[in-house]
Amino acid sequence: MTTAPHCPGNLDLGLSWHNSFVQLGEDFYIHLSPQPLPAPYWVGQSRLLARELGLHPSWLASPELLQAVSGNRPIAGTQPLASVYSGHQFGQWAGQLGDGRAILLGETSSGMELQLKGAGRTPYSRMGDGRAVLRSSIREFLCSEAMQGLGIPTSRALCVTGSDLAVRRETIETAAVVTRVAPSFVRFGHFEHFSYNGQPAQLKALADYVIDRFYPECRSSDKFDRNPYAALLEAVSERTAKMVAQWQAVGFCHGVMNTDNMSMLGLTIDYGPFQFLDAFNPDHICNHSDTEDRYAFNKQPNIAYWNLFCLGQALLPLIGEQQLAIAALQSYKTVFPAAFDKQMRAKLGFTEPPSGTAPTDRALIDDILQLLARNRVDYTLFWRRLSHSSAGTDTALVRDLFLDRPALDAWLLRYAERLAPTPRPRVADLMLKTNPKFVLRNHLGELAIKAAKLKDFSEVNTLLTLLESPFEEHPGFEAYADFPPAWASSIEISCSS
Ligand code: AMP
Ligand code: MG
Repeated sequence: MTTAPHCPGNLDLGLSWHNSFVQLGEDFYIHLSPQPLPAPYWVGQSRLLARELGLHPSWLASPELLQAVSGNRPIAGTQPLASVYSGHQFGQWAGQLGDGRAILLGETSSGMELQLKGAGRTPYSRMGDGRAVLRSSIREFLCSEAMQGLGIPTSRALCVTGSDLAVRRETIETAAVVTRVAPSFVRFGHFEHFSYNGQPAQLKALADYVIDRFYPECRSSDKFDRNPYAALLEAVSERTAKMVAQWQAVGFCHGVMNTDNMSMLGLTIDYGPFQFLDAFNPDHICNHSDTEDRYAFNKQPNIAYWNLFCLGQALLPLIGEQQLAIAALQSYKTVFPAAFDKQMRAKLGFTEPPSGTAPTDRALIDDILQLLARNRVDYTLFWRRLSHSSAGTDTALVRDLFLDRPALDAWLLRYAERLAPTPRPRVADLMLKTNPKFVLRNHLGELAIKAAKLKDFSEVNTLLTLLESPFEEHPGFEAYADFPPAWASSIEISCSS
């Protein structure tokens, strides 16, 4: 198939397209067009991302773009395809998966790929209908941009369009399409696919593609007997470790860390039943389909390592020696704790190493996390209030969050001792830039979805604005930074999307 040409029916967005994934050849994908979405309407748009992509803002008001990102009109220069991958789901080998409902349009000259998620069936749809429902599409759109606002590596979302097209899940819902954006959507599962199918040439082509585009330094690395594929495994391990450290620090639970949902670039991808913790519960399970608690919040760092082990296994035909693969994976065990400590020290406002007499940072971090868990303290509110108290307000609002106040007071004393040499404005400055005021709590998403089902998209827009700059105060929007209502704990979010 050739590139969609610049002819009158094809929309020219003024972007130039490269489509490097296409060069891999047809063992990696199937060319196909998105399935039209009847009578689409706008649900949400990220102006920030449009600007980053070099897309003129006037497009966001245009009916032509609405049709194009709903799969109803080809975009000149794109070469739409669905890629094939496999993966381990909930700890079991699941065999061939692939993009069952995400169609890669192509890659712009800025190096960003655009995908339409929910754009209809593909040869990899298995029993699925190729669609995504409005509620999960709004959640993916908002969370992608929220993670970006938090500084956590993530795939992005340019826009969501909806339709009255009925889609059957547990009940009848309506369809939507998310335009996702990332430098690459290649997953661990892409490598597992070619490895398990005994296709070493394709496995090597994919590894070379990923190295050349994203990890060129692996070619010149002196480590691992100059084996670039072991260096790749190490680099992916490091990026994954840093990403998961950020999840743990901000209280983000992904919910479906299957190997097909793990990005080779260390990006958070495939937002499904994710949750930002309300009350701090390390054992929290956000996915109601996760009956064995595999993806509980505090298990995420180990699960990421398990997934990297699967990637190492898949890369073994290229790496050659098992010992090299094991050595490459080792970095996770040092990078994750170091990255997590760095995140937590910033949350606590530590700009300098502790002086000789102060309590160690590790003990302070472990102890506050235990106190938060024992008192089931709201995680985001705690850190934001602590940040403000470092700025000079008293600690009353922090103390209000705890039942066991003597234990908190003892910790606060040790904390104050540790902070003592650092000027408080510096501490507060760091903390207020590290501890967000706004996160996409489940109940906020639910309220926006409820309104959107009635075609009121104002809450989607409001949330997007707040979440794009979650460290700003946004006066007048206090309710969005408050405790969750009682009904929030009964929200059930599963894999159904
Ligand atoms: P997820 O749980 O969203 O990561 O999806 C797991 C796999 O199922 C991926 O290969 C998806 O492309 C596919 N999938 C999920 N939902 C659908 C659907 N409604 N239609 C077709 N494929 C789907
Ligand atoms: Mg997925």
